[in-house]
Amino acid sequence: MRVGVLALQGAFIEHEHKLQALAVEPVEVRMPEDLLGLDGLIIPGGESTTIGKLATAYGLVEPLRDFAQHKPTWGTCAGMIFLAKDIGIDRQPILGVMDITVNRNAFGRQIDSFERDLVMPALGAQPYHAIFIRAPIVTRAGDGVEVLATLDDGRIVAVRQRHLLATAFHPELTDDLRLHRLFVDGIGKDQHS
Ligand code: GLN
Repeated sequence: MRVGVLALQGAFIEHEHKLQALAVEPVEVRMPEDLLGLDGLIIPGGESTTIGKLATAYGLVEPLRDFAQHKPTWGTCAGMIFLAKDIGIDRQPILGVMDITVNRNAFGRQIDSFERDLVMPALGAQPYHAIFIRAPIVTRAGDGVEVLATLDDGRIVAVRQRHLLATAFHPELTDDLRLHRLFVDGIGKDQHS
């Protein structure tokens, strides 16, 4: 199985370490040809405006969009913003493949980073400790978008739509491998379907 990690900016190395812990050798994606032969892709957290600018400069926006339309792709934090169909801003390049509306920097300055134990039935009974850093939230989940986790007040922070996964927090910064395993297991199923 070949899983790529978009390596333009942000927390890509930490995702690579998580994949290695699951015995999956990650492939760094910086050019369109790096996507060839990949079975899945992680788009890391960082700064979505920078990721968008660099992806445009490297001619990656269209190839990434094609890839994410068909192959398992997981966006975390800025990666979630990049996957979304609507972020309420026209100028910022996004892939627009997942039927969600996302509000960037949704938690404001004063509490722009925090940690929470999330109930995530898709991962089993044990809560998932999630680290939010200037995080977005999902303000609309379209038809066919499954909500995987919310905060106590109901705000949506993890979603899945067929082969697409998006989380508002940073799963690569915790020791818990369950979300990476969920994504990698999904790729295995996709290959056999
Ligand atoms: N606030 C960032 C953005 O808008 C996302 C932060 C993150 O990825 N940790 O892109």
